[in-house]
Amino acid sequence: MTFDEYQKKATTTSTIDPKSITAPYYFALGLNGEAGEIAEKMKKIIRNHDNDITKLDLDDFKKELGDVLWYVSMMSSQVGLSLEDVAATNLAKLADRKVRGVIKSTGDNR
Ligand SMILES: [Mg+2]
Repeated sequence: MTFDEYQKKATTTSTIDPKSITAPYYFALGLNGEAGEIAEKMKKIIRNHDNDITKLDLDDFKKELGDVLWYVSMMSSQVGLSLEDVAATNLAKLADRKVRGVIKSTGDNR
């Protein structure tokens, strides 16, 4: 499956009308919420399992990562970006930073 194929299928599973005036805010909030679920699961690895990441329930964690992906996809759709382009642009940006030796630096546009 390509990112674009995923993006098309993801759109069909939304219960929110993508043309609604609140849709972009809904998807942005959902993305933040799902990212928070990832953080919470990692926090519990620290608190309950003495930092032992092998205690992570991978099936459950995979589903949460998928939720993040779904919201990234929906947010991309809201602003007219293809998920394929978002993914490719991200890798190109990081590769460029690595070549220029600024991958460990700070700032969004370096
Ligand atoms: Mg979730």
